[in-house]
Amino acid sequence: MSQHFDLIAIGGGSGGLAVAEQAAQLGRRVAIIEAERLGGTCVNRGCVPKKVMWYAAHVAEAVADAPWFGIRAASEGVDWPTLIGGRNRYVGAINDHWDGYAERPESPGSRATAGWWMRAPSRWTGSATAPITS
Ligand SMILES: Cc1cc2nc3c(=O)[nH]c(=O)nc-3n(C[C@H](O)[C@H](O)[C@H](O)COP(=O)(O)OP(=O)(O)OC[C@H]3O[C@@H](n4cnc5c(N)ncnc54)[C@H](O)[C@@H]3O)c2cc1C
Repeated sequence: MSQHFDLIAIGGGSGGLAVAEQAAQLGRRVAIIEAERLGGTCVNRGCVPKKVMWYAAHVAEAVADAPWFGIRAASEGVDWPTLIGGRNRYVGAINDHWDGYAERPESPGSRATAGWWMRAPSRWTGSATAPITS
């Protein structure tokens, strides 16, 4: 089955999602082909998980410094399963947002006649006419 699009984003990271959303808002028919999870590097292994870890380290440092300020607080260590589990749930919630985005009423493509099409996981293999494999 062949379909036609005005714009195809290869990769559903920050760049692909932004350009596709903008084009859909302008009434274009767009597709996103993403080999892994929608959200790309920033959501899945970059900015978002890094910031959770950075914030956790910041909290631990604040507890360690607390006595100097006269605040009674003592760390009993890091509960790694809780930290990592929370981090993964946070990332998962963003994945879930993007997974159903094309079908939701707030998606610009569903308002425009043009429409969105998202496929993840799928990988662009280099052909202009048969571009994906699942
Ligand atoms: C550890 C780390 C921390 C970071 N922290 C920050 C931060 O705090 N703030 C900030 O602004 N930036 C941060 N960045 C940078 C940020 O992640 C990138 O700037 C951003 O992800 C780039 O977006 P992109 O869409 O160009 O690429 P990506 O997000 O990498 O998306 C590309 C997507 O293309 C997909 N893809 C590749 N080949 C194919 C194919 N053949 N077919 C289908 N799909 C394919 C990949 O699976 C990927 O999901 C961080 C990066 C890292 C690594």
